Amino acid sequence: MSKKIIIFFGPPGSGKGTQAEMLAKKTDWKKISTGDLFRAEIANGTKLGKSVGKYLQAGKLVPDKLTLSLVEESLKQKTSGFIFDGFPRNKRQLNDLLAVFRKRLKKNDLAYALEVAVGDKEVKQRLSQRRSCACGAVYHLIYNPPINEGVCDICGGKLFTRNDDKPKVIAHRLKLYYNESKSILDYWQKQGRLIKIAGEQPIKKIHEEIMEKLKKLKLV
Ligand code: AMP
Repeated sequence: MSKKIIIFFGPPGSGKGTQAEMLAKKTDWKKISTGDLFRAEIANGTKLGKSVGKYLQAGKLVPDKLTLSLVEESLKQKTSGFIFDGFPRNKRQLNDLLAVFRKRLKKNDLAYALEVAVGDKEVKQRLSQRRSCACGAVYHLIYNPPINEGVCDICGGKLFTRNDDKPKVIAHRLKLYYNESKSILDYWQKQGRLIKIAGEQPIKKIHEEIMEKLKKLKLV
């Protein structure tokens, strides 16, 4: 059977992480979220965590070499598919990923990019209302609030506002996203491998649209 690879794109706060998680639950594909992997390294106080903490705090990209080593390690997992969330984030990472694909993928394996499109105003509103838990769960104070204020429904952990969800850092992250993502999306568009999804809809509807489009392409 061929391996399926879906690479999620979208500005910070587009909901791509949530959608990637929902897709991972529906399929038996492994999700590779570089942001989550870095946050776990920081929470566990590892050597890698200590060296990447300052980049995450400032909303800056972690050096490509450190990021790629994490991705290559994750790609060793046995699975019928991978879902990428947050990687590649620039042209160099795309080229690195394509080189890894050439080494690891077979001829009939299929890789597609999936763009969750959301406007700037909506993104800023969403991120300021976002609350996160160290276990990876994410809430929105209005659209998806936790049952008990400030407490994670899943693990009971204390919810927090990510430092990079603060207004000044959000503006920087958005600029970075638009600067870096254009050439990557152009690449997938030229390959005829870009799926576009309207991201300003309820979470469930977006998921349904994703599943429909993947079915049409015989990816699920
Ligand atoms: P995210 O959870 O995807 O918004 O990522 C949070 C932060 O992790 C980013 O602002 C970067 O500091 C770092 N990060 C995540 N993915 C990458 C990547 N592909 N390359 C470099 N840094 C990354």
